[in-house]
Amino acid sequence: MNPVPRRAAPTEADVIVVGSGLAGLVATCELLDAGKRVFLVDQEGAASIGGQAWWSFGGLFLVDSPEQRRLGVHDSPELARQDWFASAGFDRAEDYWPTLWADAYLDFASGEKRAWLHDLGIRFFPVVGWAERGGYTALEHGNSVPRFHIVWGTGPALLTPFITRVRQGVQAGQVSALHRHRVDELLIEDGGVVGVRGVRLADDGAERGTASSRDPVGDFELRASAVIVTSGGIGGNHDLVRAQWPTRLGTAPKKLLSGVPAHVDGRMLGISERGGARLINGDRMWHYTEGITNWDPVWAAHGIRILPGPSSLWLDATGARLPGPLFPGFDTLGSLEYILKTGHEHSWFVLTQKIIQKEFALSGSEQNPDLTGRNLPLLAKRLLPGAPGPVEAFKEKGVDFVVADTLHDLLTGI
Ligand SMILES: Cc1cc2nc3c(=O)[nH]c(=O)nc-3n(C[C@H](O)[C@H](O)[C@H](O)COP(=O)(O)OP(=O)(O)OC[C@H]3O[C@@H](n4cnc5c(N)ncnc54)[C@H](O)[C@@H]3O)c2cc1C
Repeated sequence: MNPVPRRAAPTEADVIVVGSGLAGLVATCELLDAGKRVFLVDQEGAASIGGQAWWSFGGLFLVDSPEQRRLGVHDSPELARQDWFASAGFDRAEDYWPTLWADAYLDFASGEKRAWLHDLGIRFFPVVGWAERGGYTALEHGNSVPRFHIVWGTGPALLTPFITRVRQGVQAGQVSALHRHRVDELLIEDGGVVGVRGVRLADDGAERGTASSRDPVGDFELRASAVIVTSGGIGGNHDLVRAQWPTRLGTAPKKLLSGVPAHVDGRMLGISERGGARLINGDRMWHYTEGITNWDPVWAAHGIRILPGPSSLWLDATGARLPGPLFPGFDTLGSLEYILKTGHEHSWFVLTQKIIQKEFALSGSEQNPDLTGRNLPLLAKRLLPGAPGPVEAFKEKGVDFVVADTLHDLLTGI
């Protein structure tokens, strides 16, 4: 039974939201709460609603939370600000807005964020992860304390309240969800953005995350008094990544993996720029060095990030240990810079079965079926001997793994 009577989709809207990933969904929900009508436009089909967040681990940044306090972690807005600003290294004129944004987000993450999510039905796993520790002095890069709060149910559970609310908006005739509508241009009149124009793409029934066809079946044009672009990043477009690669990191690796689905194509950034948007900090990109090829890929060059504990021995391609504090999970860009300077594009984690069982995890909703499925019996198996199923599958089938019983065999494999 559906409690919301269905009304016709609006033919006019107050706001156009480009992209129905988490950002676009949250923006739409806020607009609905403000009584606005929305055109929610996405190049992908309905199956992909939620974008990257569906694949995500759902690790959220919260400051001085009950979960942290229960674990004896002493956090505060001041400490979080110190960490954030030391990591961001704001030092450009264009950092004016990012600085204000960081302060606003810190207020949010140490204030209403948890209660807001809690009211929406979102719950957290009691163990708080320690992402990007840094490991330098207190005034340098990294999180001084664990702040990575994992949503119970991971990415899909994070999306649920927002998808539900947007669907109610569709039912109530306040939202028109326009799938397979690819925006190619912002409409400009009198120096302002008044709408979007693009093509309707053929319906091809592509599954979530997979590349869908780009065959056009017609055009569309929409107008509204505001346009919000929430089109995601550039991680699925290696040409763009290479074009914006920062000189401080040397030459971009010849082989890159994509941690993100095919739709993260970055096209909308250029389109927005041509429409007058000011893009900043394009070279401040984020990469994970601890990425491995997915043995069971959903999208092209599908990479999965290892969420490593600190115990693996991390060796560069020449066999030298990475210098401290470049331990697994401490400073991803620092380790990237170091590895590229070796003249090679890879490194090795050397670890025992005991370490892999105890502290080797993989990022993403589909690699953590126990947390994603909120499955307590499956979760309890993490306490039993043996690595979790998805980790074991990577160990057995992943092209990047060498498993050996003797040092000689290991070195031969490497
Ligand atoms: C495996 C994985 C694990 C992750 N884990 C975490 C984590 O633990 N914690 C964390 O904070 N973050 C994590 N992330 C990152 C996080 O999920 C993303 O940063 C976030 O979901 C991005 O949301 P978005 O709405 O900005 O973009 P997206 O989800 O990329 O959505 C953008 C949407 O815009 C659409 N679009 C783009 N261009 C156009 C166009 N021209 N016309 C129409 N539509 C267009 C796309 O089709 C897409 O649906 C993870 C990501 C992945 C993939």
